[in-house]
Amino acid sequence: MNSSLQTALPATARRTPVERFRGQSRRRLLRADLLTVLAWASVALSIALWLADGGARGFSTLAGSFTALGIVAGLAGMDLVLLMLLLAARIPLIDGAVGHDRALEFHRKLGKPSLYLLLAHGILIAIGYGMAEGLDPVSELVSLWVLVPDMWLAIVSMGLFIAVVVTSLVAVRRRFPYEFWYAVHLLTYAAVLTAIPHQFSTGALFAEGTWQRWYWLAICIGAGAALVHYRVLEPLVATVRHQLTVSRVATEGPGVVSIELAGRHLDELAGSGGRFFIWRFLAPSAWWHPHPFSLSAEPVLFDSAGRGRLRITVRNLGRGSAQLARLKSGTRVAIEGPYGLFSTAARSRNRIVMIGAGIGITPIRALLERTPFEPGNATVILRGHSEAELYLGDEILELCRRRGATLFHLTGARTTGEQSWLPESAVRSGHRLGSYAPDVADADVYICGPSAWARSAISGARAAGVREEQLHYEKFDW
Ligand SMILES: Cc1cc2nc3c(=O)[nH]c(=O)nc-3n(C[C@H](O)[C@H](O)[C@H](O)COP(=O)(O)OP(=O)(O)OC[C@H]3O[C@@H](n4cnc5c(N)ncnc54)[C@H](O)[C@@H]3O)c2cc1C
Repeated sequence: MNSSLQTALPATARRTPVERFRGQSRRRLLRADLLTVLAWASVALSIALWLADGGARGFSTLAGSFTALGIVAGLAGMDLVLLMLLLAARIPLIDGAVGHDRALEFHRKLGKPSLYLLLAHGILIAIGYGMAEGLDPVSELVSLWVLVPDMWLAIVSMGLFIAVVVTSLVAVRRRFPYEFWYAVHLLTYAAVLTAIPHQFSTGALFAEGTWQRWYWLAICIGAGAALVHYRVLEPLVATVRHQLTVSRVATEGPGVVSIELAGRHLDELAGSGGRFFIWRFLAPSAWWHPHPFSLSAEPVLFDSAGRGRLRITVRNLGRGSAQLARLKSGTRVAIEGPYGLFSTAARSRNRIVMIGAGIGITPIRALLERTPFEPGNATVILRGHSEAELYLGDEILELCRRRGATLFHLTGARTTGEQSWLPESAVRSGHRLGSYAPDVADADVYICGPSAWARSAISGARAAGVREEQLHYEKFDW
């Protein structure tokens, strides 16, 4: 069934749109470009350190050439590893420029190149040193392990890097529970720490008294400090400051519950609607499961001290989320966040189109609640198999009425042939995104739902003329 449930205010009531988001979007994209330039410049700089030290002289002999290439590969590889750590550190500057999921996507993309560079480093150095000493590369490696201080640590580090990258490959990752993958991933820190000593104790590039040594120390310490600050200290501070406890668990539909939490200083989290936190419910069977869940409503404040209520809506999609339906009132909750760009911070236009499917509808509900738009400038499209799957549908209808947004419920079976985000009946009637939102090419489009469906909705938006900077989506998988 396709139905338009709520139309916007009549055209006469529409106010002339005022361009308020273009500047914000331009600044955000500029920040993203600058961060990208800085990231690549850091790789170039790591090689420049070596050139400035006269490293290119190594190319005068064959053995020296292998060694020189090995050093360059090592410097670039280590720089990429530090960039990967920064991308995973949940630094607000990066999150606000590209979003958490895009930062992790770059992080993943750098995994293989950095491993190849580090492997090339080990192999080329073993060949280069071996040629100079008349040894084959394997004997050279053994001799390095035994005779050169800290080198055995570097070889252990290489083994750890290989383990981390291999277990991160999608095909391997899917075979193991998230916790296993996470535990192996923690080895990255051990890999980085064991790689560092030989960089300072072997070779002249980072010898004491050189400015190269200070630069390299600064970037290693900077990356470590960012990780400790944003991944450990900030979550601890947020948990202690907001004192969140479960106050109510309410059923929203089959397998779906809303969890309400009471807390303090929630005024500091207002405006987070659509963003997500990583939640840890501190009950005996659940505390070790970290769950990313988006807010499904803006925080409600009860007093000027920021005491109030937060809400998330959770679908039972696995063992951990199924347990959450049984959470008791009073359970304490640890949080990390808010993260992500599925919020007003990503807006670039005055018009907005919000498309949600299944549990992906719930952050749309939170975004709709606060994101600014003139009556008539917003369209909400909800997709589910049946009306019962349009979670929080009544609240969304009420919000659309109040704010003057147009609402469509698109229910019914999926298409059987060509994949579409629309139900079969809509496809047969020749409907497309533009049928529901004629001005979509001049709107920000927010999409949230299951991965395959979201991919198809994103293609639909691109086909309707929506440009990349207008497209905002939240992926619910890791
Ligand atoms: C940004 C984001 C926002 C989300 N918002 C919502 C929401 O509002 N409502 C909702 O119902 N679902 C949401 N999800 C999906 C939800 O996090 C997973 O479905 C849920 O964590 C599955 O946990 P499980 O233990 O039942 O599943 P299992 O498959 O058994 O997961 C096992 C472990 O993996 C962890 N895990 C699973 N998925 C992820 C992930 N994406 N990132 C990190 N750890 C993960 C779990 O927390 C758990 O510790 C969101 C996911 C992301 C990435």
